[in-house]
Amino acid sequence: MSNDAMGAGGIARRGLILILSSPSGAGKTSISRYLLQEENEAQPGAMHLSVSVTTRPRRPSEVDGVHYRFLTVRQFETLRDQGELLEWAEVHGNFYGTPREPVEAALAAGRDVLFDIDWQGTLQVLGKMREDVVAVFILPPSAAEQRARLERRAEDSAEVIRRRLANARTEIAHWPDYDYAIINRDLDESVKQVRAILRAERVRCRRLSGLADFIRTLDQELAAQLD
Ligand code: 5GP
Repeated sequence: MSNDAMGAGGIARRGLILILSSPSGAGKTSISRYLLQEENEAQPGAMHLSVSVTTRPRRPSEVDGVHYRFLTVRQFETLRDQGELLEWAEVHGNFYGTPREPVEAALAAGRDVLFDIDWQGTLQVLGKMREDVVAVFILPPSAAEQRARLERRAEDSAEVIRRRLANARTEIAHWPDYDYAIINRDLDESVKQVRAILRAERVRCRRLSGLADFIRTLDQELAAQLD
């Protein structure tokens, strides 16, 4: 097994799903970007983004196949109806979904996957794969700061921004479904917090598939020393 699939003390482990959810404008996209960069600098291939499919129009800064795979509604419905999506939801009037197969392959190979999905998707993934999931909720420090961030991004119309702020009230009501909450006052600090969560979650006993073998060997060695 490759190095990136190792957990505590070089023991093989299953990958995990790190879910980051937040209302629009909380800074989740920036956190995700720096998190992926730093994790992969520390250990190449450690973590990658699950590229969702969506029917939302592409923003000027986005690249098809990198940020999302942009689909027509018909294409989206075909994937969904064939059972190829691990979860899906309608968010802000568009469809979004997570392709299932790449996630299952990554976890089995001991690689971690980052999900940038909303609360509806989180509930579906928790229902199917609770043991593999670490769910983190990112919050803006205040409503005024949240609005300012959306306006600074300047990629959405005033109407879209208004709808996203209205939806934020629904999103934040779902905080009790998450394992951790981070108030994003400072980008660097928030990235540090997510990385601390990851570091701990990677050595959860249940993820260390090689732990039982390791302990059996350790026990035999102990017994031999006592002979
Ligand atoms: P945006 O349009 O700003 O990229 O994303 C809007 C919302 O959709 C965000 O809250 C984002 O987390 C969520 N989202 C993106 N991809 C998915 C997905 O595959 N499934 C679900 N359930 N939500 C998603």
